[in-house]
Amino acid sequence: MLLAGDLGGTTTRLGLFDAATPRPELRAVHEFATLDHSGLAPMVIEFLRQNDVGPEVVDVAAIGVAGPVVGQTARLTNVPWPVSAAELREQTGLARVELLNDAEAMALAVPVLRPDELAVIQAGTADPSGNALLLTVGTGLGVSFLHCVGGRLLPMPSEGGHGDFPSRTQREIDLVRYLLTLYGRVDMERVVSGRGLGNIADFVHGGRCPLAPLDLDDADYPAHVTTAATQATCASCVDAFGLFLEAFGSVAGTMAIIAVARGGVFIGGGIPPKILEPLGDGRFVQAFRSKPPMTDLLAHIPVSVVLDSRAGLLGAAVHAATVPERDQPFGPSGRR
Ligand SMILES: [Zn+2]
Repeated sequence: MLLAGDLGGTTTRLGLFDAATPRPELRAVHEFATLDHSGLAPMVIEFLRQNDVGPEVVDVAAIGVAGPVVGQTARLTNVPWPVSAAELREQTGLARVELLNDAEAMALAVPVLRPDELAVIQAGTADPSGNALLLTVGTGLGVSFLHCVGGRLLPMPSEGGHGDFPSRTQREIDLVRYLLTLYGRVDMERVVSGRGLGNIADFVHGGRCPLAPLDLDDADYPAHVTTAATQATCASCVDAFGLFLEAFGSVAGTMAIIAVARGGVFIGGGIPPKILEPLGDGRFVQAFRSKPPMTDLLAHIPVSVVLDSRAGLLGAAVHAATVPERDQPFGPSGRR
């Protein structure tokens, strides 16, 4: 039995899986409100108890966390407590715990996703020997490159979302100038994320959208802008949302060039499945492609949205399932 986790700033999903290959089979899942708990261990203990499973039954546990993992510990931006594999083992009795970055975890799910779990926004032609790219857009912007080695896609964690935002148009340069005065530096996440959409809306409106309720939480502001844009109730929100789609497409195209992602670009996270129709209306794809002399490369790359919100959990289970394989010595001399 495998235990998989997807620990985010808002929601933590835990799942029990059977170790089928290449795709572990989900047996039970539960969602926890992350900040209602004082750590990861209490959620794991409660989840195991709910399912009447003792920690000794779990061969490997793998948890994807929204932040960089260093030495099997992680400190998350929006969660007040740190996560440590060693502490989790001690507190829960689990024999083997592995932490990995959440975008890396979702990338591990990419090769085993079924067609009905994806929505195609650019058909393209996938090169089976090509690299792939995963972007996750939610509270933040996650990036993982999938390097194709011997026909297998191997995920590489990345903090690419914190690279500088590559502005292309006069409008985007004005946006960067506006954000520079607020933040001192404009990384891609300041523009392409839920908060990024809020930033763009502030830039376009010259402050908060006047139609947004006064008591609206910052976290709910991007949803207001999206609704006001898709229902065309606010012209400035329509404008801001268009800028967001183009910036998103452009960043995805830039990352696809860096990765040479001929195998495909996959877009996951909480936001893309909620804006499928506008993502497919041409504005994203136009900005994704129009990067001469790379237009032809980009026009042939399939681009899909990952529809399943549990893909990160599935990827963590794939990681857990392959731990015994990684324990094998590599090559006759045992060197890795
Ligand atoms: Zn507005």
